[in-house]
Amino acid sequence: MAWDFETEPAFEEKLAWMRSFVKEEIFPIETLKLSSDQVVAFIRPLQDEVKARGLWAAHLPAELGGMGFGQVKLGLMHEILGQTPYGPVVFGNNAPDSGNAELLAAGMEMTGREDIRERWLQPLLDGAMRSGFSMTEPNTAGSDPRLLKSNAVRDGDEWVLNGRKWYTTNGSVADILIVMAVTNPDVHPYQGSSMFVVPVNTKGVTILRDVGSMDDPDVTYGRFGNHAEILYQDVRIPADHLIGPEGSGFLLAQTRLGPGRIHHCMRWLGQSQRAFDMMCERALSRFTHGSLLADKQTVQNWIADSAAEMHAARLMTLHAAWKMDKVGASASRDEIAMIKYYGASVLHNVVDRALQTYGSLGYSADMPLEGMYRAARAARIYDGPDEVHRQTVARHALKRYEPSEIPSDHIPTRAAAAREKFASMLEFLEAERV
Ligand SMILES: Cc1cc2nc3c(=O)[nH]c(=O)nc-3n(C[C@H](O)[C@H](O)[C@H](O)COP(=O)(O)OP(=O)(O)OC[C@H]3O[C@@H](n4cnc5c(N)ncnc54)[C@H](O)[C@@H]3O)c2cc1C
Repeated sequence: MAWDFETEPAFEEKLAWMRSFVKEEIFPIETLKLSSDQVVAFIRPLQDEVKARGLWAAHLPAELGGMGFGQVKLGLMHEILGQTPYGPVVFGNNAPDSGNAELLAAGMEMTGREDIRERWLQPLLDGAMRSGFSMTEPNTAGSDPRLLKSNAVRDGDEWVLNGRKWYTTNGSVADILIVMAVTNPDVHPYQGSSMFVVPVNTKGVTILRDVGSMDDPDVTYGRFGNHAEILYQDVRIPADHLIGPEGSGFLLAQTRLGPGRIHHCMRWLGQSQRAFDMMCERALSRFTHGSLLADKQTVQNWIADSAAEMHAARLMTLHAAWKMDKVGASASRDEIAMIKYYGASVLHNVVDRALQTYGSLGYSADMPLEGMYRAARAARIYDGPDEVHRQTVARHALKRYEPSEIPSDHIPTRAAAAREKFASMLEFLEAERV
């Protein structure tokens, strides 16, 4: 099958506009130390401009209020927006709201329930509501969600939810939480978990704290981007707050994670490119030990390796996006898994090299690199740690092979077989002494 990541000239124009808009209007806001409310005041007019250009919340299909771009175009867009943490917020496709909107949309499609649109999906798309995605638990391995312990039991017209979650990003500023819980422990976990919309002010929901992390070790409670620890104690949820059919939690999670990983990887490339630009500028400006850094072979290697790794990651990610557009997320599982761990390592390597090129200045908060480095570290953990994605790829690759006591390429064995196969030819050559 031929690959084609080309986009039409009209979309190229949109990308060009996004590039200059992000650089001219959004980059400067990063440097101001703003409170959450001040950020909202700054970005509101920018969001209006994005809406006026028809680029708002582009991740959803047209019938659900999005732009129906498909993953290749979305990927190219995220590469630009990902250069700055405010980019996705200004364009209405920041995590976890964008992924949660996709979950709600998938639930709507599975059940034909239109009320979901009005109650939660549209307000999320409009930016009038904030959400968190509450799946990971402190006491079970998040890398294996089959082990989830949080559970919901049906009681009349309600479900009663109990559990403890953490790392619910934006949990402490959310209006609604989408919670994954076991609803039927008697079947395989893939069929026994469900997702619920839980309004944050429901009785029994306690936001215990925002977890201090590499992002923000001395975390201030209630800031956008924090990760909350949440206790759900006998939380009574109306039955119609179930998203999709009972037991569809894993299916919904797959719907959300496929496109989300493509967008993450393209955003990481945007970050990597920014770090790369900083590295090259510094290499051409800093003089030491008789020459510019740009003249040192080690620095040249960093630049060359970074360029090659970014190029490879970009092609892999666009290919995964293209394949997803053609054959869907499930058939593109390997490609999506590969870009998750490969893209995360490229981001980490490029930011690390750029930081090193700047020495003490790179380590200082006078450059954005130290913050980018801390954020890059998380990429190897969230949405499934590297090891799990590698395992997926390796397992599928291994399925294409059979065990063999004698290796198929064992040369003495092959030589014996070849001698047998060509016996008459060998005899003839021997007789003729050729
Ligand atoms: C910045 C950030 C934001 C997050 N946001 C959210 C959110 O909004 N909502 C949410 O629900 N969760 C969120 N998470 C949680 C995230 O999804 C989990 O951290 C992740 O799934 C891993 O689960 P765990 O932390 O429990 O690690 P564990 O499952 O305990 O795994 C620990 C380590 O074990 C190793 N490991 C695991 N499995 C294997 C394997 N098969 N082979 C070899 N080694 C293995 C890996 O090195 C892994 O890092 C976020 C995490 C971070 C860091």
